[in-house]
Parts: sequence; structure tokens; C-alpha cells
Amino acid sequence: DHDSVLALLRVAARQDPDRECLRIGGRSYSRRQTLDEVEAVARGLRALGVDPGDRVGLMCDNRPETLFTWLGINAARAIDVPFNAEARGRLLAYFVQDAAPRVLIGTEDYLQVLAEAVTDDPEYVVLIGSARTAPFGARAKQLTFDELVALGAGGTEELPEPRADDTATIMYTSGTTGPSKGVMLPQRYYPAKGDHAARLMEVRADDVVLCVQPLFHIDARAFLATAWSAGGTIVVGRRFSVSAFWDQVRAERATIFSTIGTMVWMLFKEPPRADDADLPARLAICSSTPGEILHDFEKRFGVDVIEAYGMTECVLLTSAPAGKTVPGRVGHAIPEVEVRLVSDGDDPVAPGQVGELVYRPREPFAMMQGYWAKPEATVEAWANLWFHTGDLMRQHPDGLEYIGRKKDSIRRRGENISAWEVEQALSAHPHVREVAAIGVASEVGEEDVAVLVVAMDGQDIDPAELVAFAARDLPRFAVPRYVEVVDSLPKTPSERIEKGKVRERGITAAA
Ligand code: ATP
Ligand code: MG
Repeated sequence: DHDSVLALLRVAARQDPDRECLRIGGRSYSRRQTLDEVEAVARGLRALGVDPGDRVGLMCDNRPETLFTWLGINAARAIDVPFNAEARGRLLAYFVQDAAPRVLIGTEDYLQVLAEAVTDDPEYVVLIGSARTAPFGARAKQLTFDELVALGAGGTEELPEPRADDTATIMYTSGTTGPSKGVMLPQRYYPAKGDHAARLMEVRADDVVLCVQPLFHIDARAFLATAWSAGGTIVVGRRFSVSAFWDQVRAERATIFSTIGTMVWMLFKEPPRADDADLPARLAICSSTPGEILHDFEKRFGVDVIEAYGMTECVLLTSAPAGKTVPGRVGHAIPEVEVRLVSDGDDPVAPGQVGELVYRPREPFAMMQGYWAKPEATVEAWANLWFHTGDLMRQHPDGLEYIGRKKDSIRRRGENISAWEVEQALSAHPHVREVAAIGVASEVGEEDVAVLVVAMDGQDIDPAELVAFAARDLPRFAVPRYVEVVDSLPKTPSERIEKGKVRERGITAAA
């Protein structure tokens, strides 16, 4: 058991320093080289004065510096705070204000976006890529990634050894039920999840694991630790492209890959190719796979699918072993936790009934430490000492069936979109009096975002203009596809919009 992902990497590098462990940005890195890159970033951050427990915000696409920076922050015992690269405006400003990072690190385009969103400048801004400056205030000292590394070069100071219970990362949830919460994850989280997943997937040292998900997602990071835990190689792609995916699997000779959300659908919808089943891949780890295509997908591409369910607070909470996934089921919970399905009053529901999934560890176990700066939310989640997932499930003999959110969310392109966030963004429009965001079934599976809006008295709402307005403040995947202007919305006695009724009503026209 390793205390941190860094410890994992150090042990591996000592055993077999020249073995390849990473491919990213068209380059291959041995274990030793990977560790050197990571430690170089850590030394640079130490030279800047970054101390254990300081937060460093990251807004980056998938490239080598991104990976080395995340791990370098952890190697300096500082806390990395990855922001969803699609976040914009108010949401991004909230992340930065909430986490209060001393340093912001970003790839060129994203630093521009960050600078526009942020009112309180950090102490330092580190630019990854070719941009020389970003439009931050004069207080923020700017340097390039290379300058950061140069600052620490030649340093002989021993890096502080991360402790298992140090907070490694604050990762924001999708904000489905209110403002996004910063989930504090301990250093031991990554190696623990990696070990667990490696056992589940029977990952071997000669496996090549392909990850095309963004590195600010917890799944991608756990997947990376999985490969390293088993001594394998991880290939990190720039992004997911349905047309390039299988060629990438072939070119990299990837034996394991992961997908999230609609990726499975998109791959499945591509016209069949004669060599579909002739792939080096043997295993795919997926989430939200439509039950109706699971077995066809496995057969067509010659892979076993492991359907996994989890959350930022604890990835890989339930799954079935490889080749044993039952369509429409998310498997069984890992043995380290006790699970229950409960009613609103936290009483166990009768067998076969739908209830909220709650769990508690049976033994010391790597999961979130709490929500950053939100003690009330932490206490609420742990009501009666069970962790409340907010997800409704039904227990079947062959596994758990995921029913949906207890509260409100829209699932699109592998992202959980908070209806609340969409509503907040649209409410800012001067002509909007009230707004309700709902998910409507999409032809590619998952959902599209639809909003019902009530105009201010005497004002007109132009749907196209409203969508453009929303696009300024929302991640692209959360921008509504449908806008319907209505006279009123159903309300509770306490004047709250009744989302259940809005959802029942749906939208009238495909705008
Ligand atoms: P917030 O906690 O702010 O409301 P969130 O829960 O949407 O946001 P995440 O931690 O990114 O943020 O998402 C976890 C959720 O994703 C789970 O609670 C569950 O609802 C959904 N999910 C995860 N895995 C699966 C799966 N295999 N099938 C269906 N839904 C899944
Ligand atoms: Mg959640």
C-alpha cells in the first residue's frame, strides 16, 4: 500500500527505472524520466515558496506539462485544484474564490478565460504553452512553465515526503444539487483506487492503458494510477475523437481503455468495419453504458466491458468483474464498504424497492476527507454516519440498478450538468424572470438541456440571443439546446418552482 501516487512512482522507478510508463504528447517517458519531470515541477513550486497545504489551481488540456504539474504539486505536498476546462465566467470565479489558490497554472487559452473570470489575482500565474502573458492584474507575478522548472533546477533540498492523509486534491463536483463542492481527496486516494482497479481489471505489467478523458476528471486520474499500480504503461490522448479512436487503440497497441457517458454510444454508432473485432484491446471500463447495447458492443469490438459506478468522493464504488457486467446494472459494491438503500428517513427500504444508496467503510478506506470549506455539507452527506450518494438504486440479485438522481441533474456528453447552474446562468439575463432547466431525452442517448423561461413583464425573449448569452457563462456542454418561453411555471406553496411537474410537462416544441 502506497501513501501517495508519488510513492508508487518512486518504488516503480527504483525497481525498473528504464521501463516505459507514460506516453503523452507524442513522447514516451520511462519511470525515471516521469519522476524527474514531476520532481522538477515540485522543486520549482518549492522555490516559488509554495508550502505544504497551499492550493495550486490548474486549468489545462491534456499535455505532458499538465500531468507533470498535477503530480508535481502533490510531490510538493501542496493541493492541486483542477478546474473543468469548460468552466467559464461565474462558475470559474466561484472555484477560484472558494479554493483561494496561491498559484494558478494554465495552458494558454484557458489562462485568458481564467483571467477574465477572476477578480482576486493569485500571487503567481504559470503559463503552459506559447503565450507570453495572460491578462491578470499587476499583482500576479507571471512566469512560464520552463521558468518555473528552471527556478528549481539544481536544487538539492529534499522534497517533503507526502503523507497518506495529506490532502492531495480538491476536485469540484458537478454541482448537481447546489453549488459545486470541493471534494478533498487524500494523497492515498490515487494509489488506493489504482490498486483496487488494477485488481478488478487484472491489469498486468505488459498492459497498455489508453486514456482520452480530460485529466481534470477523477476517472482519468484513477485510471492513470491503475496502470502504474500494475507496472503498466498509460497513454494519455489529447481528447476523445470518435473517428480517430480505434486507430489510436491500434497504433498504441492499447489493451485497456476507458469511456465515459455517450462515448460508448458514439463508438457503437460508427459504421461497422471489417476489422472491428481485430483490436489489441481486451477490456473497457465504462460508466453509464446503455444496457441495450452492452453485449453487442462487447461482441463487435471483442472486449469485455466493466461497468463502474462511483462519484468524485469515491470512484469505483460498485462494479461487476470483467465479462460479468449485466445490462442495466452497475454491479455490486466493493467489499470494503457496507451499503444500504434507504428511504427519506434513512430507514432501509423493503427488498426490491427503490432507495437512496448510502454506504460506510467497514475498514479504513480511501475516500473523500470532507468538502472544502463546507463543513455543513460534509455533515449532511454523512448523516447518521452513512455517506449519502443522492442516487436512487434498486437491488437485484444480479446487481444494483441505477435509477437516477434523488435531486436534479441533466446528463450530457459524459458530464453531469447541474440544472441549478444552468438556471443560475440564465437568470442573469435581464429579460428572464424565472427559469427551469430540465433534461430531455436526446437521440444519442443521455439528455439534452432544455429550459423553460418566463419573461419579465413587458419584455421579449429571443431564444437564440438567450442561448448566446448562456454560452458566455456556461460550459459548452451545459448550454441549452431548447428554449421555450412560457407564461408561468408550476410552484410549491413556498414559491419554489416544482421541478417534478416541469419535468412531467417537458417541452412543447423542438425549438
Ligand atoms: P454534485 O455532487 O455536486 O451534485 P455530481 O454528483 O453530479 O455533482 P460527480 O461526482 O461528477 O458529480 O458525479 C457522480 C455521479 O455520477 C453519481 O452520483 C451518479 O449519479 C453518476 N454516475 C456515476 N457513475 C454512473 C454510472 N455507471 N451510471 C449512471 N450514473 C453514474
Ligand atoms: Mg455528487
